[in-house]
Amino acid sequence: KKLTSSEIRSMFLEFFEEKGHKVEKSASLVPVDDPSLLWINSGVATFKKYFDGSVIPENPRITSSQKSIRTNDIENVGLTARHHTMFEMLGNFSIGDYFKEEAIEWAWEFLTDEKWLALDPEKLYVTVHSDDEEAREIWEEKIGLPKEHVLDEDENFWDIGVGPSGPQTEIFYDRGPENNDLPADHPESYPGGENERWLEIWNLVFSQFNHLPDDTYEPLPNKNIDTGMGLERIVSVIQDTPTNFETDLFMPLIRKVEEISGVEYETAGELKQSFKVIADHIRAVTFAIADGALPSNEGRGYVLRRLIRRAVMHGRKLEINKPFLTELVPVVGEIMGDFYPNVITQEAFVIQVIQQEENRFHETLTEGLEHLVEVFEQLTNKGEVQVTGKDAFLLYDTFGFPVELTEEYAQERGFTTDIEGFSKEMEKQRERARAARGDDQSMKAQSGVLSELEVDSEFVGYTDLKVTSRLQ
Ligand code: ATP
Ligand code: MG
Ligand code: MG
Ligand code: MG
Repeated sequence: KKLTSSEIRSMFLEFFEEKGHKVEKSASLVPVDDPSLLWINSGVATFKKYFDGSVIPENPRITSSQKSIRTNDIENVGLTARHHTMFEMLGNFSIGDYFKEEAIEWAWEFLTDEKWLALDPEKLYVTVHSDDEEAREIWEEKIGLPKEHVLDEDENFWDIGVGPSGPQTEIFYDRGPENNDLPADHPESYPGGENERWLEIWNLVFSQFNHLPDDTYEPLPNKNIDTGMGLERIVSVIQDTPTNFETDLFMPLIRKVEEISGVEYETAGELKQSFKVIADHIRAVTFAIADGALPSNEGRGYVLRRLIRRAVMHGRKLEINKPFLTELVPVVGEIMGDFYPNVITQEAFVIQVIQQEENRFHETLTEGLEHLVEVFEQLTNKGEVQVTGKDAFLLYDTFGFPVELTEEYAQERGFTTDIEGFSKEMEKQRERARAARGDDQSMKAQSGVLSELEVDSEFVGYTDLKVTSRLQ
C-alpha cells in the first residue's frame, strides 16, 4: 500500500475511534502544570492526571497523535535511521477499561488487516516480559504468532520508581538482512535488539502494578493501557524507505536544503547526516517555538539554542555559510500544517525568533574567529605552534566557539591544538558547576529538570562535528 503520512496518522485515529476511543488533540510540547518534565516526551505524558487517578476522564478510552521531544536522542539523529528529537507518537490508552487482550488484538489488526496497514505478518516480531505468561499466550494462541516471533526480554518492564508500573510488549518490523548494521554474531543482532534491521515500531505498556515505596509490587485495582507508535517509523515501513528521512515527512525539507546548498542528497555520502540533522532540528525548533518556547541559556530555551546551533554547524558542513534556517520554516508548515495548524498561524513569529538566534550565532562565530586570529598572531610572535587548551577553552566558553572549528582553523594556518588540555579545562568547568549546584539547596527542588540540564549544558552537540570551513 502507498499511503501518505497524513493518511497513516488519520487511519490510526480513525481505527481507534471505531473501537470507542475519544480522539484527543495533540497537546503543547511545553508541559502544562508539570514541573517534573522539560518537554512532553510521549503520549502518556499528557494523560498523567488520568493514570494517577487524580482526574477521571469522560471516556476511559483515548487515542492521540502526540508531538514529543526527546533530548536524550539528540546525538542519535542522523546516525540511526529511526531517532528524532521531535517525533509524533500515535497512541491508544485505556484508563481502567480494556486490558492486554484488546490492546494486543487491536494493534495486530491495525498493522496487518487488509483494511488497514496490511503489513506482512511474517515480518513482525514481538518481545514480551519474561514473566508475562499472559501476554505470551495472547500472542501465541490468540494471534497465532509462531514461537520464534515471540521473544523474551527481561528489560521489558516499565517502571518509574514509585507508582503505576508493569510489563510491556514491543513490536518490531523486519526491514530485511540488507538493513542490518551489526554483524550477525553481535549480541544485539536479533529481533528486539538495538539494531537497524528489526525496527521497533510500537510499544504496548500494561500498567498493572503499583510500585510501593518498600520496593514491592501490588496489583492495581484499575489496570491501564498505554501504547506508543512512532509515526515516522511506521511511515518509513509503509513507504519502504531506507531511513525515516526519505519519507514524505522529511523529504521536502531535504530538497530545500539541496536547493540552498547546491549539494545533492542522494550522492552526499557521509554528508547525508547533515541533511538529516538540519531537517530534524528545524522541525523540533519550529514546533517548540510555535508552542511558546524560546531560545535562552537554560532549560527548554537552552535545548532550542543547542538545536539551532547544531543545525547551523551542519549547514556549514554543506558549505552554507549564511543564515538559512528561516527558509525551511514554511516547508515544515506545508508538510504538517494540516494537522498542526499553529505551525502555520505562528509562522511569522517562528521565523522572527529563529532569524534573531541564527544571526546571533553567526556573530558569535565571527567574533570568535577574530579572537582566534589574535591568538595565531601571538603564537607566531612567540615562535610557538600549538593553540593552548586554555585558549581553546576561552574561545569555547566566552564565544561559544566550537573546539572543532578552532582545531580546523588552526590546521589551515599550520598550527596544532591542545585538545587534551581543552578537555581538562572542560572537566574543571564541570566540577565548578557541580560544586555550585551542590551548594544551592533551592535548586534541588527541581532535580528532575536539572538532571536533564546537566547533560545539555555541556555543549556536547559540537563534538561530533568535523566542520568544513574557510578562513575569510
Ligand atoms: P528506541 O528503543 O528505538 O529508542 P524506545 O523504546 O526508547 O525506542 P518508547 O519509549 O517505547 O521508545 O516509545 C514508543 C515508540 O515511539 C517507539 O516504539 C518508537 O516507535 C517511537 N520513538 C521512540 N523514540 C523515538 C525517537 N527518538 N524518534 C522517533 N521515534 C521514536
Ligand atoms: Mg529510546
Ligand atoms: Mg526500545
Ligand atoms: Mg520501547
